[in-house]
Amino acid sequence: MTSIPFVDLKAQYLSIKSEIDAAIQNVLDTSNFIMGENVKKFEQEFAAWSGAPFAIGCSSCTTAIHLALLGCKIEPGDEVITVSHTFIATAEAICHCGATPVFVDVDPETYNISPEQIEAAITPRTKAIIPVHLYGQCADMEPILELAEKHGLRVIEDCAQAHGAEYQGRRAGTMGDFGCFSFFPGKNLGAYGDAGAVITKNESDARLLRLLVNHGRESKYEHEIIGYNYRMDALQAAILRVKLRRLDSWIAARRRIARRYGELLKGLPIQTPIERHKHVYHLYVIQCDDREGAAAALKKQGIATGVHYPLPLHLQPCFKGMKGSTSGNFPVTENLARRVLSLPIFPELTESQQDYIATVLRNYFK
Ligand SMILES: *Cc1c(COP(=O)(O)O)cnc(C)c1O
Repeated sequence: MTSIPFVDLKAQYLSIKSEIDAAIQNVLDTSNFIMGENVKKFEQEFAAWSGAPFAIGCSSCTTAIHLALLGCKIEPGDEVITVSHTFIATAEAICHCGATPVFVDVDPETYNISPEQIEAAITPRTKAIIPVHLYGQCADMEPILELAEKHGLRVIEDCAQAHGAEYQGRRAGTMGDFGCFSFFPGKNLGAYGDAGAVITKNESDARLLRLLVNHGRESKYEHEIIGYNYRMDALQAAILRVKLRRLDSWIAARRRIARRYGELLKGLPIQTPIERHKHVYHLYVIQCDDREGAAAALKKQGIATGVHYPLPLHLQPCFKGMKGSTSGNFPVTENLARRVLSLPIFPELTESQQDYIATVLRNYFK
């Protein structure tokens, strides 16, 4: 039977095997495993690629967001506005500062934070907004930045799914005070383990984050502030440097595949993605009435799917009892949680695999 995975990390590795193997061997040969040349070079190369003056490598996007929040001086008692329709890490990092995540609903077409809902959620305790560029498309940043300016709030972009996405000609991560990226293996730029980065245009913010990421120090034995061990691993940096050179072509492939899905799925009773700004399709998310039925039909024919996300953050057990954490509060988010289905998308997905997925869906809806 045909079998199509949700992502195919092995296929990508095989396509760049000799370069990756050489990069890993080089780290082993020098045995420089912590910080060092590869991390420094990756930071420079990723900053240049993202269009930001500074990049700080770190251990994940969860730690990237935590670092960015610390850079914004978020403290216990503060409130940070974000969405419930996202991965838990966005809100976890807020809690790591002792602050409270305040959720707002999303736009029913782009699935991103609804700027109209933000103002009503602002209180005297609000310090920052974290828009998430979900699935690979930027949130509507212009009104968000205007609100932030008006109310004196910092803006942290969660770019975990949006490497290379654009908004009015500006790159994801360069519009707010900080942009936070994930290099989790399945992300558009994936390491072979956990890794992340923060980008910023502000030199003193960059310096503070550099201290925080590595035990509050610049020199080996002097600790200026209390920091963390949130460093990027040198092996991951070496791997990411090889992969960064391919990222533009991988993004182009994702966009090609998404366009082709749009054509192949035309006329079916599903909602395909609506592209308002340059989308990098980390996920290809459709909506349909009987999501479980469609997923089961695909699975029966060997096709893996995902759901991003079936349980909104405000309904997660960990937020039970928190203000706003009851069902019915965010109708768009709750409706999406019941209807979204992510189809396989990765740069190596072939046209015949895609044809097969579309045929199975067409038969299911017949
Ligand atoms: C993956 C993801 C994260 C967390 O990234 P890690 O590198 O796994 O910590 C945060 N936010 C969003 C939207 C994500 O998709």
